[in-house]
Amino acid sequence: MKRNVVSLIKFISLAAITVIITVIVFRYVRSGKIINARGPHSLQLHNYPQHQQIEKEMGETEEKMDWHDLKMINTESKRRGIGEQGRAGSLPASLSSLEGSLYQVNGFNGALSDLIALNRSIPDIRHPDCRRKKYFRRLPSVSVIVSFHNEHLSTLLRTCWSVVNRSPVSLLEEIILVDDASTKPELQIKLDDYVAKHLPLVKIIRLGVRSGLIRGRLAGAKAAKAQVLVFLDSHTEANVNWLPPLLEPIAEDYRTCVCPFIDVIAFDTFEYRAQDEGARGAFDWELYYKRLPLLHDDLKHPAEPFKSPVMAGGLFAITARFFWELGGYDPGLDIWGGEQYELSFKIWQCGGQMLDAPCSRVGHIYRKFPPFPNPGRGDFLGKNYKRVAEVWMDEYKEFIYRRRSHLRALDPGDLGEQKALRERLHCKSFKWFMEKIAFDLVEYYPPIEPDDFASGEIRNVGAPEMCLDAKKRKKDELVMLDSCVRDLGKNNGDFEQEFRMTWHKDLRLKGRTDCLDVSSGELKAPVTLYPCHGKHGNQRWKYDIEKQWIMHGNAQRCLDAEPGAKRVYVTACDSDSATQKWRIQEVNMKAINDWDNVGPNFA
Ligand code: UDP
Ligand code: MN
Repeated sequence: MKRNVVSLIKFISLAAITVIITVIVFRYVRSGKIINARGPHSLQLHNYPQHQQIEKEMGETEEKMDWHDLKMINTESKRRGIGEQGRAGSLPASLSSLEGSLYQVNGFNGALSDLIALNRSIPDIRHPDCRRKKYFRRLPSVSVIVSFHNEHLSTLLRTCWSVVNRSPVSLLEEIILVDDASTKPELQIKLDDYVAKHLPLVKIIRLGVRSGLIRGRLAGAKAAKAQVLVFLDSHTEANVNWLPPLLEPIAEDYRTCVCPFIDVIAFDTFEYRAQDEGARGAFDWELYYKRLPLLHDDLKHPAEPFKSPVMAGGLFAITARFFWELGGYDPGLDIWGGEQYELSFKIWQCGGQMLDAPCSRVGHIYRKFPPFPNPGRGDFLGKNYKRVAEVWMDEYKEFIYRRRSHLRALDPGDLGEQKALRERLHCKSFKWFMEKIAFDLVEYYPPIEPDDFASGEIRNVGAPEMCLDAKKRKKDELVMLDSCVRDLGKNNGDFEQEFRMTWHKDLRLKGRTDCLDVSSGELKAPVTLYPCHGKHGNQRWKYDIEKQWIMHGNAQRCLDAEPGAKRVYVTACDSDSATQKWRIQEVNMKAINDWDNVGPNFA
């Protein structure tokens, strides 16, 4: 009897516990969440094979592990040969004629690519902290999507091999190659055969008509099976341990899009190198891709992902779920261009975030020139820009139209669906994006350019018949002194003596983006022309109205001249020198008095 009571109590308490657990689990399943220490998500996570050492970091509730494939790293470190370790290669003389034709069709040295191993090694140029970084033991798996049009076969295959060799087996579901109507014969049966024999994870989708990279990627994304989509260009090389840093922020929050650092594979030598130590993506008001400096806090954690307003375009990871919630890319975007803005604006404005992960690096061949012809569909780029501006940029689109005025009259096609999507997702305004996410963009790329500090001819006080003269010179050529053309009755028509001291604090030729540049520290340093970079440094000039000095750089040296030799140089300032005094034709007192408040401060 007593025993029966005890088992009854046991049974009841067991049943109660079961019910409670079931209720808890059911609630989470219903709301589409798996409990993750770092926040809710609905991803299926994959355990890495257990032979790896697994640790819990202090204060971490999710298990972390070192994902490095030490065996592969060791094997690769021993590779020797042309292009190995990412070193610059060159062609033997006997091949250089081939180089010519393969250059033309690719915009890079295709013949050299053919001599470099498809599974070549590249240097680990990550920040040293990345080698010690551990990531969640459970991460989602990926479908890598590569759209290509007439890619060179060996660069396409090298993309695949780098992904296969440098991705953990448990995380790589498939590589989807989308052939955007390529016409090169070797991309047909030969590619099929190679893939069937050597690359079992690769699937090929063939598009019947040239659809462009945007629709190519959409086709790949539709076919993808994994929960995370990783988009790559068809001439890239994934570097060591590239996937976990892309995936961890996504495992924490499925509405996060993560970009790798993009390294440079030289188009001529295939050398692999960094382009810089990272920057935040942005744009100017002609919609050229630009970059903003890292923030103070980002610099303190060089191996941690940081927020970036705009992706560079080609390479990123995003969950299929979030990608499709955002409607994928606007399918009305044609061929190429503008899609990186569309997706970036959408991600931020519609509740997601975008990060750059410094410990994930992928090399990309930046071509020397675009090799394939535009398929005769008119101004597709302008049309793409107009679609993005009209749907996402609100009143800010006006700044684009002021600079690309032909867009005003261009028909962007039907925007109804895109606008409805924005409504449906309750996306935030572009103003919000500009103020909260790209908050420093206007400082570097002001939508309305501040007035010039000064402009017109620049006349030497010591030799008042002489003016600064660029003589139609080009890059790296010297700026001289010559007889003032205005005195000769010419009307400055060819601008060789007309300059502008712009809000960039540079001195540029009117109508050109060539700037007066001083790169030497010698006693009489020559002044040359160089494409304006807008980043102060060698191109920073300031006009001191009282002293009539044109001062250069941080060292504050003065522009000076030897009228006899028509020579112009920068040297130590001297208040007794008449040739260091200059009169600029038009001076904007208001702007000069506001000098310190104009433009960004480059530290
Ligand atoms: N691409 C494509 N269809 C096109 C144009 C480009 O599939 O009509 C592919 C191209 O092969 C590459 C990616 O899209 O894999 C990006 O193009 P590209 O490399 O020319 O752009 P870039 O890197 O120069 O911006
Ligand atoms: Mn590319």
